[in-house]
Amino acid sequence: MAHDASLPNADRIVRAQTAARAAGLDALLITPGADLRYLTGYEALPLERLTCLAVPAEGEPFLVVPLLEQPAAEASPVGALDLEIIPWRETEDPYALLASRLPRGIARVGLDNHMFAEKVLGFRSALPGVEQALAGGVLGELRVRKSAAEVAALLEAAEAIDKVHSAMEEWLRPGRTEREVGRDIADAIIASGHVRVDFVIVASGPNGASPHAEVSDRVIQPGEPVVVDIGGTMPSGYCSDSTRNYCLGARPPARYEALYEVLLHAQKEQCDAVAPGVTAEQLDAVGRDLIAKAGYGEFFIHRTGHGIGLETHEEPYIVAGSPLRLEPGMAFSVEPGIYLPGEFGARIEDIAVCTEEGGERLNLTSRDLRVLPV
Ligand code: ZN
Ligand code: ZN
Repeated sequence: MAHDASLPNADRIVRAQTAARAAGLDALLITPGADLRYLTGYEALPLERLTCLAVPAEGEPFLVVPLLEQPAAEASPVGALDLEIIPWRETEDPYALLASRLPRGIARVGLDNHMFAEKVLGFRSALPGVEQALAGGVLGELRVRKSAAEVAALLEAAEAIDKVHSAMEEWLRPGRTEREVGRDIADAIIASGHVRVDFVIVASGPNGASPHAEVSDRVIQPGEPVVVDIGGTMPSGYCSDSTRNYCLGARPPARYEALYEVLLHAQKEQCDAVAPGVTAEQLDAVGRDLIAKAGYGEFFIHRTGHGIGLETHEEPYIVAGSPLRLEPGMAFSVEPGIYLPGEFGARIEDIAVCTEEGGERLNLTSRDLRVLPV
């Protein structure tokens, strides 16, 4: 089912203009990426040729595209927006072209945070004397609170990745390598409705002690705990991300079971603590304190979570030291982990959304350690 979450929405550009003015930016310059998709619905290719949305704080926005990308731009949701498309030919200077169309007297521009350096410098030459700043703060502020349609798109993504976790026994078996299992999981991520596999972590035994281990040629053994952290991007552009823990054929070592009980309790308490007004650092502490009290404090080596939407990692970050207050519509992962170097590790991850009443978990597969039959 298609959602309108990533479709053109003139209101988003108007809100971006308002936010730019408030931030003292005379224009926003947005090249292909999540910000462009958020504002226009256009999933443009990040090419060496310049594609750039210009959003003057005062005046009409416009989109500069290579002539050969013009049909793709017009076929995208941009075509339904009241947005002028300005094509440039191979021999033209697109930076000068864009600069010539900006209102006069521009003093400060905001560039999207992921703009290629060659494009940043292209604008520096085309707009001499104009101060460059990051637009990420302005755009992140808009993107951080998801609309109902965006939450529905995240839920659809969560349901798709839950389907993959639910069928894990089809692929995760002792005697296979992490890489073999990972390849099957990647196929299943696509079969579940995603258009792109963003990452597949299958970390068995000691590999599970590294939070960002991906896959290796290690052969998975019976009774070994396995961390499976997977995610992809849906046709809507919204992302999934969920981690579950498995054991094959036999219960894991008692030391692991004890660790898992602590982790599960911490993750559940954190999910239950999601509510408007709670700060990111408070939410982080809910889990960190429980894990520390059980003696594993030094083994929880990363933040609790990250925001998720059109990107897998975006604002808000749930991290110690962040005074950010949760608000309805904020969506983020809750993923505490405990990692014992050389032995094993575990992480439990759900996407949660802050609501008016509290919080809602989008991933609903069981968080218990699943012992799969062999
Ligand atoms: Zn993850
Ligand atoms: Zn995550």
